[in-house]
Amino acid sequence: MKINLAKSAGFCFGVKRAISIALDKAKSGKPVFMLGDIVHNEEVVKQVEKAGIRKIHRLGKGSGRILLIRAHGCSNKTLRRAKECGYTVIDATCPMVKDIHKIAKNLEDTGHKVIVIGDKLHDEVQGIAGQLKAKAIVIDDLKNITIKKIKVIPRAGVVVQSTQSLDKALKIAGVLRENIREVEFHNTICNPTRIKQGEINNMPLENDVMIIIGSKASANTRRLYEISRSLNKKSYWVNSGKEINKSWFSKAKSVGITAGASTPESTIRQVIQRIRTKNP
Ligand code: SF4
Repeated sequence: MKINLAKSAGFCFGVKRAISIALDKAKSGKPVFMLGDIVHNEEVVKQVEKAGIRKIHRLGKGSGRILLIRAHGCSNKTLRRAKECGYTVIDATCPMVKDIHKIAKNLEDTGHKVIVIGDKLHDEVQGIAGQLKAKAIVIDDLKNITIKKIKVIPRAGVVVQSTQSLDKALKIAGVLRENIREVEFHNTICNPTRIKQGEINNMPLENDVMIIIGSKASANTRRLYEISRSLNKKSYWVNSGKEINKSWFSKAKSVGITAGASTPESTIRQVIQRIRTKNP
């Protein structure tokens, strides 16, 4: 059986960068804190904790402490508050998320009502909205657009959460265009996500079985799985090699493998190894 691994499987550039900054800062001797998990993956969280980096839920006394801003970024308010608390702030926000911040601020400065297409509660979306003076409108789904609310907007500027599906974002943008006189749309889905989406739209059609690797807590892994399953019923979502079931591969000539942006390479290797030993 042929194993085809997606080129984009696993950590994206922004996550790799944030983890490397975090591990590097942990060696400085100063205690390092983060607001929440570095990524939604149990293995990576364990590794980071082992290096001495601690997760906090709210800011406390920060003197003598480092606060690491994760790849998803944060609001201006959080940044200000961290500095007031005395933390040394290390900003590991992905440069591509920083670009979205700049675009959103610029749209606001040029008189647009900013609309963010993304998941309301996601840190990245809150970080984007948190760059603005006025409240941004966040739209997470076509069915949740309140037409009455958007019809009164004369000029809208739209940005998209970096990991959203392009298809969904374009459909939402279409409805906005039908109802708002002037819409400036910026497709801010990042390059690694675009590559991932391109692969997941093809691989399930080209392989007999698809394996999607990643934590059940990872939203982008869920999205990969859902797309894969809609194209190929023999799609399976696993978080480790132990979950691989030999019966999935009976009569299969090829298996496609991909992994969410928060899945470490070691887990991907372990899953491949397991498939090989179960299907020699
Ligand atoms: S998904 Fe894209 S924007 Fe988000 S951290 Fe990764 S590379 Fe950066």
